[in-house]
Amino acid sequence: MSNVKRPTALVTGGSRGIGEAVAKRLAADGFAVIVTYRPHGQGHAPAVVADIEAAGGHCRALPLDVADRPGVTAFFKEHIEGQVDLEVLVNNAGITKDGLLIRMKDEEWDQVLNVNLAGAFTCLREAARAMIKRRSGRIVNITSIAGQMGNAGQANYSASKAGLIGLTKTAAMELASRGITVNAVAPGFIETDMTAQLPEAVKSMLMENIPLKRAGTVEDVASAVAFLVSKDAAYITGQVLAVNGGLYR
Ligand code: NDP
Repeated sequence: MSNVKRPTALVTGGSRGIGEAVAKRLAADGFAVIVTYRPHGQGHAPAVVADIEAAGGHCRALPLDVADRPGVTAFFKEHIEGQVDLEVLVNNAGITKDGLLIRMKDEEWDQVLNVNLAGAFTCLREAARAMIKRRSGRIVNITSIAGQMGNAGQANYSASKAGLIGLTKTAAMELASRGITVNAVAPGFIETDMTAQLPEAVKSMLMENIPLKRAGTVEDVASAVAFLVSKDAAYITGQVLAVNGGLYR
């Protein structure tokens, strides 16, 4: 990465799917980007870095399990504090462990809450500490339509995503005086590895109900994130921007 101190955007779970598209868009918009992948293996992350660098951007990929609280704190100490001008955090890392609630195992509940909500909280807290020193920053949490309207079979996931909305609103209030905005993007049905697991019948039912009659693309979500971290969104904080083709208003 170049030594020029350009504003940095950290995208958790930027190794594929929505996070990858967000990383590419923010790099194109001039941010130096750090994408994270789970420590079990780099997967697609090196390809994301290569694509961004080939397009003239700046990107690094680093391992980070957002559910590992001491690991997150150590990550910020080692790679962020005093190292980069952290202007943007996108809390994108997320998982599903679906099942009807009467059959849901404690560990399925815990894993989803630990990654989607506790992981986002820990990253947000550490990022806010770095941003407060600069008196500037933009935080975007990727929530979900499931957190706004619920979804049968996703008690753990929808609770984690609804929690993320509460976290967004509170963090926006606490950090506004320090020049930091905190918003959420709530995608509807977006074609990624996560939704590839859905049965065809569920996909067609969803499609039927989407007023714009198509699934969202990862670029649709990236555009919303890019807007919220841009100067044009300077007066917007504590909001949830839905990117769902009109499925939920
Ligand atoms: P994918 O399953 O395609 O990608 C998930 C990303 O999260 C991967 O980069 C993965 O890393 C990373 N990740 C998972 N667990 C952890 C962890 N413990 N620590 C760090 N990173 C982790 O998902 P999507 O791109 O579809 O989803 C991205 C976000 O958007 C999620 O928060 C999801 O809930 C949300 N969303 C998605 C929707 C959709 O329709 N796709 C709709 C609404 C919200 P690795 O590559 O290492 O596994």
